[in-house]
Amino acid sequence: MSRPFVFCTLMALMLVPAAAAFALAPDAPSKEAWGETNDGRSIERYTLTNAAGAEVDVITWGAIITRIVVPDRTGKKDDVVLGFDTLAGYLGQHPYFGAVVGRYGNRIAKGRFTLDGKTYTLATNNGPNSLHGGIKGFDKQVWQARPLASADGQAIELTYVSKDGEEGYPGTLKTKVTYTLTPSSVLRIQYEATTDKDTVLNITNHSYFNLAGQAHGDILKHDLQLDADRFTPVDATLIPTGEIKPVAGTPFDFRTPHAIGARINADDEQIKFGGGYDHNFVLNGQMGTLRRAARVVEPSTGRVLEVFTTEPGVQFYTGNFLDGTVKGKGGRAYPKRSAFCLETQHFPDSPNHPEFPSTVLKAGDTYKSTTEFRFTTDKAR
Ligand code: BGC
Repeated sequence: MSRPFVFCTLMALMLVPAAAAFALAPDAPSKEAWGETNDGRSIERYTLTNAAGAEVDVITWGAIITRIVVPDRTGKKDDVVLGFDTLAGYLGQHPYFGAVVGRYGNRIAKGRFTLDGKTYTLATNNGPNSLHGGIKGFDKQVWQARPLASADGQAIELTYVSKDGEEGYPGTLKTKVTYTLTPSSVLRIQYEATTDKDTVLNITNHSYFNLAGQAHGDILKHDLQLDADRFTPVDATLIPTGEIKPVAGTPFDFRTPHAIGARINADDEQIKFGGGYDHNFVLNGQMGTLRRAARVVEPSTGRVLEVFTTEPGVQFYTGNFLDGTVKGKGGRAYPKRSAFCLETQHFPDSPNHPEFPSTVLKAGDTYKSTTEFRFTTDKAR
């Protein structure tokens, strides 16, 4: 064996592990076993951290965000999302706590749509409609995880392949979700998907926030600003009527900050249909560009959440269907309106509304969408 060959081989042997270590440490998220599904598949939990003291836990079941810890204005840390302490809670009945929702976030009327001349039938799991991807949506699947040490902070990439025909939707759909926690406590969520047949798609994350800390009462005193001049009114089954209505002069006008609770029981037909807020807001600005959708301030702790997205809409949901029966972290009940969701999305029932921005993903095209949850604090008032 020649000397240069031995030298090069030795160098390579030394460099390969070093390179591998560099790719994952010291900035890779930590990983731990987190139990098994009912059919014996192992679930892992990854923890993303940053130097500002934020922590985000993500599990491979449903690509669920199980915990987001951020400091308040005095530096006191708390967990600001609803969820469970163990996998068992997530395997049971719950209203999509922290989950990635797909293939179609929110409702499709009567579980039916027509694409390329063919009518597809979905399970109707919400009154007469299909909700959040059907019986076994993305929230109830095991995702493959790959930790990343990106230049932007710790990250975790999760992938799931949904088979052609799964839950009634056409096309083999390959989905990738990347969560990144940046040094300035931005939780970035990037979605990407491809299909081998034309299909419809509307992916979101269904985190339930309470910026005072999860299980710290209701969210009615949080101040909300929504960058939306218009919203999509619904019928009694929460399907958009097709109208795009200005928020001006309605309880849906959050163009300037208002307490969530200020008008939540208003004598208004839309509020009654939703049992509070459960509506899609049409975001201002250009869809496809990352722009602000919402700003929420919790006055007692000073925690601020800003939501940025490339999506055309956001579902503002005030936990109206929470009723205290689900026991969450620490065995605490989650009563009505103890959290809010800001689900960035295309509009509900778009496949049946050609006038709405299209949710069709063509075979060979790549779906891309980005949402950021930006956590900061404000000063005492
Ligand atoms: C829906 C609500 C539903 C909640 C939990 C929201 O996106 O609009 O009506 O109760 O998700 O499933």
